Amino acid sequence: MFRKISAKSQIFENVRNNHEIVYNNFVKFAESLSFNQGITKKKSGKATSYARYLIRLVIFYEEIFENKIIKLDTYTALHQLEEVERLPDFKEYNQSEGRFPSAALGCFKAYIVAEHMNQEEITDSELNRNLNEWAAVNSKYLLIREGEDLVKGPKKRATPVKSKAGMSYPRNIAESIEAKRKSEYKCEIDLLHETFINSTDNNPYVEAHHLVPMAAQGYFENTIDFADNIVTLCPNCHRKIHYALPKEKAEMLEFLYANREKVYSRYRIEVDKKMLMNFYGIIKADSNSL
Ligand SMILES: [Zn+2]
Ligand SMILES: [Zn+2]
Repeated sequence: MFRKISAKSQIFENVRNNHEIVYNNFVKFAESLSFNQGITKKKSGKATSYARYLIRLVIFYEEIFENKIIKLDTYTALHQLEEVERLPDFKEYNQSEGRFPSAALGCFKAYIVAEHMNQEEITDSELNRNLNEWAAVNSKYLLIREGEDLVKGPKKRATPVKSKAGMSYPRNIAESIEAKRKSEYKCEIDLLHETFINSTDNNPYVEAHHLVPMAAQGYFENTIDFADNIVTLCPNCHRKIHYALPKEKAEMLEFLYANREKVYSRYRIEVDKKMLMNFYGIIKADSNSL
């Protein structure tokens, strides 16, 4: 089943042509990533390799599982390619190809999440705005609402709803409030980060951020919208975790994840540090030690 497949072979060309738009977008994405992360000085080489290995994984999936991948830029396709990665022979193949296949899959994970990031970020800012408005109206009742409706264990994810930005997963405001309460309205990167007093509820102003980003909700069957997955950050750290250079983002994630990694199994969310980094577009340097 696993074998060398030349990028000039007929089967390769056929499959690439089937997914041409995704293929081209993925090359561009991988170029921007490797450029950002200083993986490569010359722009195109590695990105093209990633994209080619992605196509090879599609070929293997379709051959081995006798099933066609119709739309490549979906979480369904990502899960299908992960099935290939789980096959016993994959390891040897991966080794023999300088670990490009697994690096390509990590990069593809980042790509799919990035595709969903835009709409989810708009929904996130809405959440933080709503949270504030909600706090203004309801601060008196906060105590009554405490513990109400909160996710305590594995729960099936919600159905995406139409929002201004397109389809996105709804967030339960009570989970974010619970997260802020738990952190005592402090920035979880550094408790000493000072903000200001929020005039709506007289608490220090902090923002809610889903550590496993809501853009990755489609990857998981169970919801990731629970307080244990929500970190509270000062506005500066919040912008930073979204927009900083990969190295700085990675440091923040490393720190935040260390405090939380044990909670995810309680909600049957299978995630590890490498996957989390991939979700934020960070492809580990070790995928580079080829
Ligand atoms: Zn955020
Ligand atoms: Zn901070």
